[in-house]
Amino acid sequence: MSLSLGSGTRNLRKLLAMNQILLERLCGVVGADHVLTDMDLGAYEEDWNRRARGKALAVVRPADTVQTAQVIRICADAGVGLVPQGGNTGLNLGAIPDGSGTQVVLSTKRMNAIRAIDVANLTATVEAGCVLQTLQEAARAHNLLFPLSLAAEGSCTIGGNLATNAGGTQVLRYGNARELCLGIECVTAAGEVWNGLTALRKDNTGYDLRNLMVGSEGTLAIITAATLRLYPLPRTQTTAWVALPGIHEALRLLQRAQSILGPSLSGFEIIGREPVEQVGRHFAELARPCGDSSTPWFVLMDVWNNLDDGRAREEVESLLAGALESGEAHDAVIATSQAQSAKLWRIRESIPEAQARDGLNIKHDISVPVSALPDFVMELQSVLAAAVPGARFMTFGHMGDGNLHYNLQAPFGADADAFRARYERQVNGLVYEHVARFGGSFSAEHGIGSHKVEQLASSKSPTALWMMRGVKQALDPRGILNPGKVLG
Ligand code: FAD
Ligand code: ZN
Repeated sequence: MSLSLGSGTRNLRKLLAMNQILLERLCGVVGADHVLTDMDLGAYEEDWNRRARGKALAVVRPADTVQTAQVIRICADAGVGLVPQGGNTGLNLGAIPDGSGTQVVLSTKRMNAIRAIDVANLTATVEAGCVLQTLQEAARAHNLLFPLSLAAEGSCTIGGNLATNAGGTQVLRYGNARELCLGIECVTAAGEVWNGLTALRKDNTGYDLRNLMVGSEGTLAIITAATLRLYPLPRTQTTAWVALPGIHEALRLLQRAQSILGPSLSGFEIIGREPVEQVGRHFAELARPCGDSSTPWFVLMDVWNNLDDGRAREEVESLLAGALESGEAHDAVIATSQAQSAKLWRIRESIPEAQARDGLNIKHDISVPVSALPDFVMELQSVLAAAVPGARFMTFGHMGDGNLHYNLQAPFGADADAFRARYERQVNGLVYEHVARFGGSFSAEHGIGSHKVEQLASSKSPTALWMMRGVKQALDPRGILNPGKVLG
């Protein structure tokens, strides 16, 4: 008696055989140790917030640009989607595979060399998998500053920073990742290497391909290296924590600080009462530095100066004395040492971790014009307080850039998952409607990934979407690079 195979079984066998050939070809390029399939791939398949988990066919870790190009060609030949991944700290599900088990994650972690630091040109050329903090430290060793700074800097990579056009806490003075990037090396969907590692500050030769790649979230090419701007290391840092009676007072303080301190004002962060209390609850050593439990808003400001003559500190002192006298601030402390500055910043940087400990909340990363930010916050807060009784407002962010991480946490004692299931869609609708009304953006820093694909499709104009799709079609006609992300 002979058994005949059903067509489903035959297709499965064929697929397994094709996957086997693909994996063998990938091993031939990067070595079997760097094609991961049978270990627990959880760290590559799950996002930082543990909001979602995909299933990868394999994780491949090329050692350099040449290997990256070969990996892309092999996957393109097989019609297999590639998901670039750096530190996997992105917050919009851009760096994890979908659930199909058919996509290959390309991890840049082994491509982490600092190729060169040119002190006289104030530039560094680094590979995509270099961890942000590693570059910061290398620059510092040359008495230079790489100013990109964010709470994930110990894990996130330069490639991920550029692919998401990361912002962070020093944008006010130094700009986003895009402003810090002079040149890019990347591999296209056809496996061709583009060496655009120019270190020029002026170059108007045709379309700006570098800036097209920055912020493209791995959908147009895989970034393998970049040439980045460095700055002289500031000699003094003056950090202040201010307790304010309202968010309108924060805007007035920002305006005054900018007019007095000019470009020395490098960071101006706003933090609501709830996140400050939350950090204090989870990290006892990071209790609120001043103000009391009824203070609604706090500002953390940083002033960096290249002259070590004490003038910056005097200016900050007189700025805050004026605010206290007029009642526009309730209380303030100024750090007297680097250690104290670092501690004030640790409060701000511990907010994401403290929130995670209270359970995943409803998150937004939004921006509005700086001048409209206080009205935006007050109007939205009253609408949401009525719609979602008892919700805790975890509002904080980069006020100097008009960018808020506008998160709603379940009421004390309530189940975080049930809260999100019940309210997320309604809250998102209200938040994004307000954002649009105030001329803002529904994703200021964290990009689109797969999480905000619908929002992008519904809020960009047909013309903008047509241009974006045209670019994608031209550079990746077969949809090999990060399928399902950004444009869906
Ligand atoms: P990943 O998460 O690995 O990837 C992010 C995206 O980039 C994905 O779409 C991925 O496919 C793509 N990608 C990665 N590497 C490459 C490459 N070499 N070529 C092409 N595409 C690539 N962001 C801010 O902007 N400002 C903040 O203040 C900020 N704070 C954060 C704080 C915390 C605690 C956390 C967890 C995240 C924060 N983020 C912030 C999110 C931010 O986007 C990331 O931390 C960082 O920029 C992503 O780097 P990564 O290496 O982890 O990228
Ligand atoms: Zn941020």
